[in-house]
Amino acid sequence: MSKYIFVTGGVVSSVGKGITVASIATTLKSRQISVSVQKLDPYLNVDPGTMSPYQHGEVFVTQDGAETDLDLGNYERFIDINLTTESNVTSGQIYSAVINKERRGDFLGGTIQVVPHVTTEIKNRFKKLAEKSQAQVIIIEVGGTVGDIEGQPFLEAIRQMRNDVGRDNVLYIHVTFLPYLTSTQELKTKPTQHSVNELRRIGIQPDTIICRSDYPISEGIRDKISLFCDVGQEAVIPLPTVDTIYEVPLILEEEGLGQLVINKLGLKARKPDLSQWQELVRRIKEPLEPVNIALVGKYVELKDAYFSVREALHHAALYHNRDINLLWVQSEDLEKDSSDTLLRSAQGIIVPGGFGLRGIEGMVRAATYARNNEIPYLGLCLGMHVMVIEFARYVLGSNEPNSTEFNASTPYPVIDLLPNQKNKKSKGGTMRLGNYPCQLINGSHAAEAYGQSLIYERHRHRFEFNNKFRAQLEEKGMVYSGLSPDGKLVELCELANHPWMVSCQFHPEFGSRPNRPHPLFRDFIGAAKEVLREGAQPSLPLTS
Ligand code: GLN
Repeated sequence: MSKYIFVTGGVVSSVGKGITVASIATTLKSRQISVSVQKLDPYLNVDPGTMSPYQHGEVFVTQDGAETDLDLGNYERFIDINLTTESNVTSGQIYSAVINKERRGDFLGGTIQVVPHVTTEIKNRFKKLAEKSQAQVIIIEVGGTVGDIEGQPFLEAIRQMRNDVGRDNVLYIHVTFLPYLTSTQELKTKPTQHSVNELRRIGIQPDTIICRSDYPISEGIRDKISLFCDVGQEAVIPLPTVDTIYEVPLILEEEGLGQLVINKLGLKARKPDLSQWQELVRRIKEPLEPVNIALVGKYVELKDAYFSVREALHHAALYHNRDINLLWVQSEDLEKDSSDTLLRSAQGIIVPGGFGLRGIEGMVRAATYARNNEIPYLGLCLGMHVMVIEFARYVLGSNEPNSTEFNASTPYPVIDLLPNQKNKKSKGGTMRLGNYPCQLINGSHAAEAYGQSLIYERHRHRFEFNNKFRAQLEEKGMVYSGLSPDGKLVELCELANHPWMVSCQFHPEFGSRPNRPHPLFRDFIGAAKEVLREGAQPSLPLTS
């Protein structure tokens, strides 16, 4: 039977609870304990697929096609497993399941209530993941902070679990934040005391408190939290802000969290081996020569909207012993200012995924700039649409080629909906989602990068390359380097007369791992690092 760790948040959100959960999982995995992870999101959307990235950040896609919270990306990158749809549960899913059962007549005669019907449905999701994953430990992160109205049923469900599976099989970890007062130059513990009180009020006494802080946490502060919150001093774990998220497992381990969890849950474990992480962090902290990469997108004000893209770039750069200097370019600015001003120092240009018309023309300009100046370009999903539109405009000598997503009446719909998408009425969960196979064409940049001919990659889009334009663009140098096995869908394309201009219809960023960069990102950075830009040329030796 699986054991459960429930992680709640206190005081404020956005203090890195997801990274903390991923790191706890890492310390267990380093002891050869099998783990799986689940995120509970209290909002009423069934999934984040219909939310704006400004609301929610990136939507992470699992191999089996679930649109999920970006924390799942951190779990996958840290513990190097591929999660499934069971790993993200929202209030929307829970309520619609309960209401469907009521309509079907499953509860005939009964009054349907939050306790027990909603809480039972929630607990069933915990058990379902445990059964499916067969992991020794299931770590469950409750989204939001303690005290949120929406989160109450989730907290009640995790409280009930202690009796359902026995108290030796359940552990509660509370992640809080210690604010710093500049006037008195001290960290304050009172908000933590309040949030622990709030937890206790609903019947949960945390076993461990992880204290996030931007400042060092003294023994005195630890003692105070231990006393007021009734946890052992060793179970108050300081977690100061660090330079790289990949350092968090090492800090938690150093503070004894791994052993604490093992003892409290009565697990048999090997000695931890975090040598790979130590090596990774050592390399990340080394001063490395940067590669300038321009990320051209419409949501650049919110960096979380491109979380996996940013991580994948860093993983790839590290492979080449380089650091990434990421230039965030708002695509709308490229419509006003000259590309040469904004992209002058870029050694590589990446256009990631996105939806809707805003900023598209700016992205097209970035693709023109990359093509004309032979700057390596990586297009991800929308970035492929942009590359195809740009190339078609050049080949056809017209500004009309477009995607029907942006201009429904274009005479040259180079990107269009497939018939099966045209009939879809609902917007939620109806895109082409999750893993699809793709056959690579020998001799292409893509085939060279992957080193194999059949690949599987994660999708999230409605629009596709329009085959009516295949021959015309091919004639002028577009190479269809990856196709669906039946040859009907263009999954990867590149330009023959360009050092490295490659785009894919899928999202490779989701498959990148810190120690195993994605092949397309790896080769993109490999090409970009060779590019010399203004101010980056090595000085010539002076001769007299
Ligand atoms: N908006 C495009 C589509 O729906 C691209 C989506 C994406 O970039 N994920 O096909």
